[in-house]
Amino acid sequence: MSKKTNAPVQEFEYKAEMKQLLDLIVHSLYTHPEIFLRELVSNAADALSKARFSSLTDGGLMAAAGEDAIHITLDKEKLLFVIEDSGIGMSEDELIANLGTVAKSGTLGFMQSLQEQKKELDGNLIGQFGVGFYSVFMVTENVTVETRSAQEGSEGLRWQSSGQGTYTIEKIEKNERGTRISFTLKEEYKEFAEEYRVEQVIKKYSNFVDFPIYLGEKQL
Ligand code: ADP
Ligand code: MG
Repeated sequence: MSKKTNAPVQEFEYKAEMKQLLDLIVHSLYTHPEIFLRELVSNAADALSKARFSSLTDGGLMAAAGEDAIHITLDKEKLLFVIEDSGIGMSEDELIANLGTVAKSGTLGFMQSLQEQKKELDGNLIGQFGVGFYSVFMVTENVTVETRSAQEGSEGLRWQSSGQGTYTIEKIEKNERGTRISFTLKEEYKEFAEEYRVEQVIKKYSNFVDFPIYLGEKQL
């Protein structure tokens, strides 16, 4: 790993508040770990909607290889969780802006004051304040995001982080637009590598998503 800008793997530091925010999320969400699934599905659906909408006005937008859809793949032996969408994807600047900073100013202060008042920072608030992605650090120690923007001239990128102050970005080969998020579940959350459990959570929280969701070969 190197901090040189021309290095193949670039390392970045999170904005100072990020560590605090992640701690807050992890400590608040332990009663609802399944929220991560709702948030990842909602981000995938947003990315697909953005691609669909942008393609109406931007003829140069990269088309999806197949169906506009969300695919979840599990490996219950290796505790692997993968969610992939054929949506709008992210450029390097977007990765830094969207996954490297507290998205909305004031969010952290608000969350802290909630915690001081000993109010439950529940799953609904997490989604509402634009920090949903980070709920994934509830169930894993390390996240990999592989993405390619649908914008012309885009390239494949891999973002990786353990949520511990830094993240890395490197170029990769990725032929299709969209985003693939993968991680190994913590042993205590191995239930989310089980199809029945993932299906249950998706039926509970993501019943009204506008795009097809596949769990392995099966459409939910
Ligand atoms: P919110 O969805 O409320 O903006 P999140 O923390 O869930 O907050 O996500 C932060 C941002 O990261 C999103 O706004 C989006 O720009 C980007 N993002 C997350 N997941 C994806 C994805 N699958 N495809 C494209 N962009 C994504
Ligand atoms: Mg979101």
